[in-house]
Amino acid sequence: MEKQKVCIVGGGLTGLITAIALSKLNLKIDLVTGNIEKNLKSNRTVAISQNNYDFLKKLNIFKFHQKEFWPSSKMQLYTIEKKEKFHEIFEIDNKERSKKQILYMIENSKIMQGMFNYVKANSSITLKSKKIISSITSNGLLKSVKYKNSENSKYHLVIICTGHNSDLVKELFHNQSIEKSYEEVSITTTLGHDSIKNNTARQIFSGNEIIAFLPISNKKTSIVWTIKKDAMYKLNKSSMFKKKIKFYAEYFFKNIKFLTTMEQKKVNLLIRQKYYQDRILLFGDSLHVVHPLAGQGLNMILRDLINLEKTLKNKTTLGLDIGSPDVLEEFTKEAKPRNFAYALGIDLIRNTFLFEKKNFKILRNKIISKANKSNFTKDLFYNIADEGLKL
Ligand SMILES: Cc1cc2nc3c(=O)[nH]c(=O)nc-3n(C[C@H](O)[C@H](O)[C@H](O)COP(=O)(O)OP(=O)(O)OC[C@H]3O[C@@H](n4cnc5c(N)ncnc54)[C@H](O)[C@@H]3O)c2cc1C
Repeated sequence: MEKQKVCIVGGGLTGLITAIALSKLNLKIDLVTGNIEKNLKSNRTVAISQNNYDFLKKLNIFKFHQKEFWPSSKMQLYTIEKKEKFHEIFEIDNKERSKKQILYMIENSKIMQGMFNYVKANSSITLKSKKIISSITSNGLLKSVKYKNSENSKYHLVIICTGHNSDLVKELFHNQSIEKSYEEVSITTTLGHDSIKNNTARQIFSGNEIIAFLPISNKKTSIVWTIKKDAMYKLNKSSMFKKKIKFYAEYFFKNIKFLTTMEQKKVNLLIRQKYYQDRILLFGDSLHVVHPLAGQGLNMILRDLINLEKTLKNKTTLGLDIGSPDVLEEFTKEAKPRNFAYALGIDLIRNTFLFEKKNFKILRNKIISKANKSNFTKDLFYNIADEGLKL
């Protein structure tokens, strides 16, 4: 039987990982990346849960060793109280509790390059780099993708991974979504410092900002700092940003150096109501975007991918049409309630930490302090962050 054809649009983390995972099924895949250079140069990093790390490991994309995937077995949360004093409010130490790591850090540029090389060498994936899609139309039973140079191809399924704010998604799916701007900006950079045993991820909640220290080696730590836009405009200079980051970092590290430039991104929440239509499936940041404080954006995407791979595997084995509404609905039925609850949960955590009312803060800290003493709560917290919600 002839292989069914899938077109994956988008050359970010989602497009590349999706193409690789689905190439293991009996499918023919075209991957349209747009311009991938910017992604390959990014200084951003991403935290992956143990469960998703195990999934990536099975894909055999890289030779897995500590250099690329740096583990953190401990996580500590802090608030800043009066006189700018750090106050540890929560800790999970998996070394004492289980063999699983809390998270693994990877550098986006490294994982992207590794996946790009893998895609180029994979005969089930045809790479259409730098191509731009001008339209997607129906063509008999199948979907027809038209490129700018008028080349025209037909597919059983088109998976759109063009990120948040994509014109293609807006044109096809209009604005059927829940969307809000947090009026915050995320600033990312990498610090170098004296060598230490660096396996503790830390996050500090301070009024209108949240700063995460995410180890990527004994000498390097990635910074994800989210700050209210108006507070950022007041600082507004790279030297002021550096001063602020140094203020936090000096609590944990010595001889700090800034190893990369700072990348900025607006922080939004996006939850799509419609997941698919007429052989077109939305995926990745095109489908949902969450606040970076929980490091869960890509983790949610990988959980969707595990579900999609399972659904499509069954259908291809049975010789069924993978782009049919029944199949896309089966995927959606599992993913949509889970993603909805998860995204709102992250929104709630973010609001809880940034709410400034004194009485609320006292109550919040009391609840967290109780949770910090309960192994049951820690297990629950860990399992939800690791494997997502099971509804
Ligand atoms: C500061 C920050 C920290 C984060 N930290 C974490 C973390 O620790 N853990 C975690 O799990 N997640 C994290 N995330 C989320 C994670 O980075 C994203 O969810 C993920 O990178 C989304 O990838 P994507 O491929 O869906 O979208 P994008 O990265 O936006 O990629 C979309 C791609 O599609 C291409 N494209 C657009 N239009 C077209 C077109 N018409 N034709 C062809 N190509 C097109 C674009 O050029 C782009 O390359 C973080 C996010 C931020 C902002």
